Amino acid sequence: MAFDSLTEKLQNVFRSLRSKGRLTEDDVKTALREVKMALLEADVNFKVVKNFIKSVQERAVGQDVMNGLNPGQMVIKIVNEELVSLMGSETTEIRLQPGKETTVIMMAGLQGAGKTTTTAKLAGKFKLKGKKPLLVACDVYRPAAIKQLQINGEKQGVEVFSMGENHKPSNIAKAAMEHAAKNGNNLVILDTAGRLHIDEDMMAELQEIKETVTVHQTILVVDAMTGQDAVNVASEFNEKIGIDGVIVTKLDGDTRGGAALSIKAVTGCPILYVGMGEKLSDLEQFYPDRMASRILGMGDILTLIEKAEADIDEEKAKEMSQKLKKAQFDFEDYLESMKQMRKMGGLGNILGMLPGLGGGMLGKAGKTPEIDSDEAQKKMERMEAIIYSMTVKERRNPDILNPSRKHRIAKGAGVDISEVNKLCKQYEQMKKMMKQMPGMMGGRGGKKGKF
Ligand code: GDP
Repeated sequence: MAFDSLTEKLQNVFRSLRSKGRLTEDDVKTALREVKMALLEADVNFKVVKNFIKSVQERAVGQDVMNGLNPGQMVIKIVNEELVSLMGSETTEIRLQPGKETTVIMMAGLQGAGKTTTTAKLAGKFKLKGKKPLLVACDVYRPAAIKQLQINGEKQGVEVFSMGENHKPSNIAKAAMEHAAKNGNNLVILDTAGRLHIDEDMMAELQEIKETVTVHQTILVVDAMTGQDAVNVASEFNEKIGIDGVIVTKLDGDTRGGAALSIKAVTGCPILYVGMGEKLSDLEQFYPDRMASRILGMGDILTLIEKAEADIDEEKAKEMSQKLKKAQFDFEDYLESMKQMRKMGGLGNILGMLPGLGGGMLGKAGKTPEIDSDEAQKKMERMEAIIYSMTVKERRNPDILNPSRKHRIAKGAGVDISEVNKLCKQYEQMKKMMKQMPGMMGGRGGKKGKF
């Protein structure tokens, strides 16, 4: 599998670091030089490597070592975090149109990248999610491509729309939209024609499709085996037609994997999925954090690092619980608890469990299944803005918040005074509730979820 050799090299570097009790600046420098070589050998873009090493170095030198970790482990922690951030930090989903609206996805890429296969793989994923996809054969230059799409579509139990080879791709796309409207397809995936190399005709054709039908997401498929070429292809497609995301195929092969590590940093476009084999089920959602730990191949150390972080959160939670017992909970703690909550991930999932944050500004949080976590997130950000507009004195002594202070805070946060009032009211309610159940926030704090 891709990255095997990178993983091995990185493990060697870290093994030598781990055997040292204390790290000097020179130790870090030597280690990072080796990390740099390993990344370059894995075919990661040169500029990306340079910036990566710079960020790690800046963070590694002069950083406090966290409780429970040795300096070597601290370097691994930083490399891991920087790898995750290099790949885009968050998982990006293909954005579908809201409600019953039909989403149109256009697949693009060079010939042989895996476009037709990936189109069928994606259709299978969306079918499982309850969509009714229509695959559209717009590759009119290779009769075999149309046949291949039909065979794969059939295997997935998904309908394929084709008009043969004698029509313009844009006209086929237009006719497919009419077909989808009649047939109740709420997802249309256009499989377009690739070329061996980037050329004007191909770009013009894609552009024409975009001008003829409304394309909501343009997804580029690139072959990981082509290494840096895949990154260049992604840059060029993005400049010429604009892409929303990339799918990197053939990561199961003996590739060096550099493309997967460089694409986001070079093009700004996120990787959405990775192809891990020829079978139609071999398509995986792309998780930057999982990919980073796969590359580092250090499950044990990463777990230890997570544990150390969880312990810190636990200490904070204990401190908080003490404050609650004494009813000393103020707006500063409110901010801290929001930070912890974010760390616990899945805001939507945990909101319903938090008394005081339910109702009012955060909506009907008691009903967990219906929570719109985006909406909740926005509301939480507004709450934070309000608290940040308070002076430290006000945050620590909410009792001093009189109407004129509240006016000033509302103005500072750019919200209506009623929102400030609501927050104060909620705070009072929360305090009351906390007094009634003093043990509520004791025990385990922000334990991070594992992948
Ligand atoms: P297109 O020309 O871009 O439509 O490419 P195809 O879909 O025809 O794929 C070209 C070849 O790559 C086929 O033999 C596929 O089976 C193979 N392929 C596609 N995706 C993957 C993948 O993720 N892993 C492996 N090993 N092979 C793949």
